Amino acid sequence: MAPVTLDRINKVYENGFHAVQDLSIDIADGEFIVLVGPSGCGKSTALRMVAGLEDISSGTLSIGDKVVNSLTPKDRDIAMVFQSYALYPHMTVGDNIGYGLKIRKMEKAEIQRRVKKAADMLELTPLLDRKPKQLSGGQRQRVAMGRAIVREPQVFLMDEPLSNLDAKLRVQMRAEIGRIQQDLNVTTLYVTHDQIEAMTMGDRVVVLKSGLLMQVGAPQHLYDNPANVFVAGFIGSPPMNMGMGRIGRNGDNYTLQMGSATLTLAPELIAAKPALKNHVGNEVIVGLRSEDMEDASVRGDATETLDAKVVLTEALGSEIVVHFETDIEKVVTEDTKLLAENLGGADVGVIGSDRTQWVASFAPRSRVRSRDDIKVVVDTERLHFFDATTSNSIN
Ligand code: ATP
Repeated sequence: MAPVTLDRINKVYENGFHAVQDLSIDIADGEFIVLVGPSGCGKSTALRMVAGLEDISSGTLSIGDKVVNSLTPKDRDIAMVFQSYALYPHMTVGDNIGYGLKIRKMEKAEIQRRVKKAADMLELTPLLDRKPKQLSGGQRQRVAMGRAIVREPQVFLMDEPLSNLDAKLRVQMRAEIGRIQQDLNVTTLYVTHDQIEAMTMGDRVVVLKSGLLMQVGAPQHLYDNPANVFVAGFIGSPPMNMGMGRIGRNGDNYTLQMGSATLTLAPELIAAKPALKNHVGNEVIVGLRSEDMEDASVRGDATETLDAKVVLTEALGSEIVVHFETDIEKVVTEDTKLLAENLGGADVGVIGSDRTQWVASFAPRSRVRSRDDIKVVVDTERLHFFDATTSNSIN
């Protein structure tokens, strides 16, 4: 076990491309850190620099109390699990798991002990004599994990290890990797583009965009307190709804104009985000999560509402997901364009038709139907605000 410290790490590729910019992360002993971001954000580059597979252009990388910038991968005491598991087809599962130890000339008895221990942990013991082609995708992935575990490294590095598995297996392996990591308590750096994996697995999550660190924090912290529009749109499913609004003042109250709606902001919100007071008269980016809205028809007394036209409803039993159009002005920034691309063009409040579409999750007693004109109650204590120029959170 060892802490890992990245101190102002940069990667400039030979063609001049600056793939990782001044990345600093302190990873504690035994911590599970997930690097997440859209394709091309530099997460694999960062991981490969920690592994020693890629030179570090500048900055300091430490494992334990040792600076390891110039050490070869094999001298860094790390073990890596990749997306493609590259098992040796002619070797048994047991030999595949122990191979890395054999080439390091470890004693046979010790190899056997470690292979047995890893196989027990991964529930591979009955399969030790099989060849890789006789295994399912999930079992192969576990063999790849086994190869890393037997090394008993100070640090695990994992690069999208679950992306070749089907959805169900991915969920299962997600839990399994989490359990193994907790049992072994080995410092782990895990790369994924999947924010759900990041949210469910990481002790802390590092969000990257275009080589830049956007925010680091516990999953729930990022969800509740995104530092900027990018994190707000990237973390959470469905993504946070966004629209343009204008902060105003009416006597002692602060107000928010969005499309044709004027909402009175909860005093608790102003107390929690005092910087909002400096934005009176300003246009801001407003964010609201789907669970912070309600169907007004089941809450007769609500005053803070938006007019909405229902486009689609999805009854999930525990909730009804309601997609609706509003007259709120769309947010169009570099971030929202990038997020839209990342969502594969899905329309969840960020992009889509000309009209702004938002998504709300209503309690199942709601009876709304497609094409209904409804009123949506906004929990004004739960609104998020971002500076329209910098995209940073206003707090
Ligand atoms: P993905 O999820 O698609 O793997 P990523 O976030 O892991 O993305 P990286 O593989 O780290 O991204 O690449 C970051 C950026 O650096 C990309 O824009 C990529 O095109 C660029 N890049 C990667 N390798 C090189 C290289 N050898 N020379 C120049 N540019 C590179």
